[in-house]
Amino acid sequence: MKTNNKISVIANEKIDNRKLIRASKIILDLQQELKKYINKGHGPFLAAIYDSKGNLVAKATNNVVNKSCSNNHAEMNVIKLAEQKLGTYDLSSYNLSIYVTSEPCMMCLGGIMWSGIKAIYYGVPSNRVTKITGFDEGFKQNWHKEFKKRGITVYGQIEQDAGEKILKDYVAQGHTIYKPKR
Ligand SMILES: [Zn+2]
Repeated sequence: MKTNNKISVIANEKIDNRKLIRASKIILDLQQELKKYINKGHGPFLAAIYDSKGNLVAKATNNVVNKSCSNNHAEMNVIKLAEQKLGTYDLSSYNLSIYVTSEPCMMCLGGIMWSGIKAIYYGVPSNRVTKITGFDEGFKQNWHKEFKKRGITVYGQIEQDAGEKILKDYVAQGHTIYKPKR
């Protein structure tokens, strides 16, 4: 774990500034695009998959509410798109990275693990997502370590402040907080 001046980025490997600068730019762009999707009725999360040369493979939003499917988180949607595009259920030979505006929930961590994606870069951590929005992100003990064991790099809390602002606006604007009754 390591911090820099502006943001407290965390990672499960030594932080590589080149990767971090690139990830910050991608996540800032995703945040800007996300605002437009929220205005069209999508959930407040956006994910993109890039190859190791920096080419976009797929991008997807969360459309749980507007498509009536509880699995339709941005990460699950973008993995499906990438696998359809590449015609495989195993992305491991493509050396792909997923970028997400917030930390993946417990379902999406499972989805990422099964996909063969090699690296995760996320924005707002789950404890903040839950605190701001009330979404139940699940229980994910030691997941950074567990992913490291499986050869998956994780960087988190990238452009967190800007990401939190979007979630706060989502709530303030009265958009749906979806969760089953307990
Ligand atoms: Zn999820």
